[in-house]
Amino acid sequence: MDLSQVLKQCKHLAQPYRIHDGDGFRLKQIDPGDTQDLPADKKAAREALEQGVELLSELQQRLYAQNKWAVLLVFQAMDAAGKDGTIKHVMSGVNPQGCQVSSFKAPSALDLDHDYLWRANQCLPERGRIGIFNRSYYEETLVVRVHPELLAKQSLPPELVGPKLWKQRFEDIRHYERYLSRNGVVVLKFFLHLSKQEQKRRFLERLERPEKNWKFSASDIRERGFWDDYMRAYEEMIQETATAHAPWYVVPADHKWFTRLVVAAAVIERLNGLDLRYPEVSPEDRQALAKAREQLLAE
Ligand code: ATP
Ligand code: MG
Repeated sequence: MDLSQVLKQCKHLAQPYRIHDGDGFRLKQIDPGDTQDLPADKKAAREALEQGVELLSELQQRLYAQNKWAVLLVFQAMDAAGKDGTIKHVMSGVNPQGCQVSSFKAPSALDLDHDYLWRANQCLPERGRIGIFNRSYYEETLVVRVHPELLAKQSLPPELVGPKLWKQRFEDIRHYERYLSRNGVVVLKFFLHLSKQEQKRRFLERLERPEKNWKFSASDIRERGFWDDYMRAYEEMIQETATAHAPWYVVPADHKWFTRLVVAAAVIERLNGLDLRYPEVSPEDRQALAKAREQLLAE
């Protein structure tokens, strides 16, 4: 594998979708069906992803050995955009000990008794690890915004709930991610950008193919009815929270093979930029190792 070549490809793949300054961002700037004119050759895509996965695994070993940085990958998307499959494929080569996935569903009674970052905070990756959030605290600016009755359930003091609430949440999230980045947690955020048409196709497939039935839930269709509200919420979320230290990647999601390549490329590029190294062995350590070897051989 020619490393510099792969890294160059990664940059090429990921950069068009990287938003590090949300000002003026519009969702329509990125086409969900985009594949950068790569041929839809599944075998070639699989081979490229395999190379990426191998490189990712090597980078993760160094991340783990160095034990300084932690990496947080946040995934947000509409239903059927391919979050689960992307996480599974991109992380397939990574040592499970160095990686943890947390899925955020509707909050429990205990969660609701705390501030909304509380449950996420408990799932942050340790140094040396990659943490994946399958949905995240961003739902607090998405589903909770689209369905105001969910906000009512949060029992916030009424004087704190006003028209400024969403701006304040964005501000708090920006500061939270700034805080994380200053503590050595590298934050990368992925919005898998699916078209409404392709979602329909995937829902129909789930309904028509028995082995896919389990993936379907009636609430998915209900949320589809709020499509435009969600798109507005996503757009503003990206405008407000895309920063240099915690960028959003708006990844075209109508072609799964392409989504996976872009996500792998973005993670590889960022990890490679951390200049991860195995810890150096000091001369004293080296002496101790030599002595241990002698002892073993003398047995
Ligand atoms: P997914 O839909 O992510 O593939 P799933 O189908 O296994 O996962 P669901 O039971 O659908 O899981 O749980 C996800 C649901 O939880 C989503 O509809 C999401 O909007 C909701 N959710 C997540 N975080 C929150 C939150 N903070 N407040 C309210 N609802 C939330
Ligand atoms: Mg669901």
